[in-house]
Amino acid sequence: MAEKGAKTAPIAGDPANFTKFWNELAGQSPYRMTRKLYVKSYGCQMNVYDSHRMADLLAPEGYVETAAPDDADLIILNTCHIREKAADKVYSELGRVRQLKEDAANNGRRVTVAVAGCVAQAEGAEIIRRAPVVDLVIGPQSYHRLPDLLARNSRAVETEFPVEDKFDFLPAPSKAATRARGVTAFVTVQEGCDKFCTFCVVPYTRGAEVSRPVEKIFDEVRNLADAGVREVTLIGQNVNAYHGEDRNGRTWTLGQLLRRIAEIPGIARLRYSTSHPCDVDDDLIDAHRDLPQLSPQLHLPVQSGSDRILDAMNRRHTRADYLRTIDRLRAARPDLALTSDFIVGFPGETEDDFSDTLSLVNDVGYSDSFSFKYSQRPGTPGATMTEQVPEEVKSERLARLQAAIKRHQAAFNARCVGCDFDVLMEKRGRDAGQLTGRSPYLQPVQVMAPQDLIGRMVSVTITGTIANSLFGVLADTPRIAAESRVAQSFAAVGA
Ligand code: SAM
Ligand code: SF4
Repeated sequence: MAEKGAKTAPIAGDPANFTKFWNELAGQSPYRMTRKLYVKSYGCQMNVYDSHRMADLLAPEGYVETAAPDDADLIILNTCHIREKAADKVYSELGRVRQLKEDAANNGRRVTVAVAGCVAQAEGAEIIRRAPVVDLVIGPQSYHRLPDLLARNSRAVETEFPVEDKFDFLPAPSKAATRARGVTAFVTVQEGCDKFCTFCVVPYTRGAEVSRPVEKIFDEVRNLADAGVREVTLIGQNVNAYHGEDRNGRTWTLGQLLRRIAEIPGIARLRYSTSHPCDVDDDLIDAHRDLPQLSPQLHLPVQSGSDRILDAMNRRHTRADYLRTIDRLRAARPDLALTSDFIVGFPGETEDDFSDTLSLVNDVGYSDSFSFKYSQRPGTPGATMTEQVPEEVKSERLARLQAAIKRHQAAFNARCVGCDFDVLMEKRGRDAGQLTGRSPYLQPVQVMAPQDLIGRMVSVTITGTIANSLFGVLADTPRIAAESRVAQSFAAVGA
């Protein structure tokens, strides 16, 4: 399909002319015209990763990514079903996409629309019924079949959990694509979940827990490092349940995996997300003690501070278990900054239960956290529980919780002022001459610095803080021991 304003094909019979023409048009293959792909990701990091892999998969088919949906030939919405609002967003976006598709058709251009991800998995053919603009519905375990489905050129719904492993069909991204995505990257090491928290759709949309083989992960990280990636975040719905096998059939824990990945040249910083408190084992705690590359920031969602609610949520741990796990982690890495997810207004949550959540926030002293109003998800046990909490009560509790989280975040950030941090410079900042990077504790840091520092880990003295960000200057003075300063601050929080 030719783009608007496309060149006219050469008439002369010189084969070299034809080759040049197609090369110019396709960018990659002399026999394939360039088509434009727009992918929009909703929700979690796993969707961001999947969106990149879809783009990698479609690149050999002649698809080049565009940031603008209006000139795309293929639009993929990679969706999230975790809360009602997230799913609703997809349908309102499909309204806009319908207009784009109609405009393109009026100009003689065909646009294909695909809905991928967890809404696709959960709603299947219902999506096409509600939004006839959609051509393809493809679940998170089936997107390796996209080229095939596109070639068939007909409507399709692909939401079975296939027998084959999609990772076996996904090509490695090109160095150019990796470079374009920056110096940090996600690598999926585990997918799915067997925990069945009573509020959560993930076990139904992503399926049973599966870990990728060890060597496949090493290869992927090595390729990323070769292309200039300096920070890798290992991701999974329940990443610390990782139990992948090596080629000798030996099972590895996440701690063991991190230890080996830390040896890959070029990888300066490692993170992992999202962890379940029940799966924090000794290997993982030892990795925090031993690996300088492993970020001293851990996302360890607790959801609620009330044992009664934790039980109703089927979280499989108590508040005391959670606090004990944090004590063990902080004994290994005293400056470990913790973040969490919280749900307010789970069915049956009383004011007393909610007070337990607020007091847990104070006890742990989180450096930041996500917090959500409970959303009834069809098919989950929570959806049919009696004692649903009224919307206005949820909103009021959420506001109080967020105020408490913000207070702790501000205190944590304030304690960072005066410290020297290793900051991985990621990209240009908002102001001219400024770069943005991340501290070891995951805070964004703004620094006036030359552009050639992008991709480098540099020492930055933190001079101030505004909202969620830190500001700093390139350090030229002897380093203040940041770790001990932050560790002391936790001792103060616990006191
Ligand atoms: N596996 C992770 C864990 O166990 O903590 C969480 C993964 S889930 C994709 C991300 C977050 O979404 C959860 O931690 C929870 O706070 C939130 N969430 C999940 N289901 C929800 C629901 N029905 N209503 C509100 N928030 C929800
Ligand atoms: Fe959902 Fe996480 Fe619970 Fe699994 S462990 S069911 S992904 S909240």
